[in-house]
Amino acid sequence: MWRTLQHMYKGTCPNCNKGEIFKQKGVLYKFKMPKMNEYCSICEYKFEKEPGYFYGAMYVSYMLTVGEAIVFYFMLSYIFQFEDNFKIFIMIAISMIGLSFFNMRISRIIWIHLFKN
Ligand SMILES: [Zn+2]
Repeated sequence: MWRTLQHMYKGTCPNCNKGEIFKQKGVLYKFKMPKMNEYCSICEYKFEKEPGYFYGAMYVSYMLTVGEAIVFYFMLSYIFQFEDNFKIFIMIAISMIGLSFFNMRISRIIWIHLFKN
């Protein structure tokens, strides 16, 4: 379990735990999307097993986004003492856009590790 979490954090192949899943992390301010390798460079494990394989990763991404939004809401309203809900909503929306590439990448990594076989 702990090792799997380590490999998810590093973004390595679920089969050999050495090859990188993503060749490019993605840069939001340059509008560069994260790019995946099709196969593991070390063990030739195919990451996208079938067309549409990563549709399921959208559920993981949704869970991550909701979790992050709840954490941001409590941070803004209790720690930073913001009272205007509209301002809190705008700040959460901006931070969700900022985290979108990270969420996309980490949700695909989680999805690949969930269904390795
Ligand atoms: Zn591999």
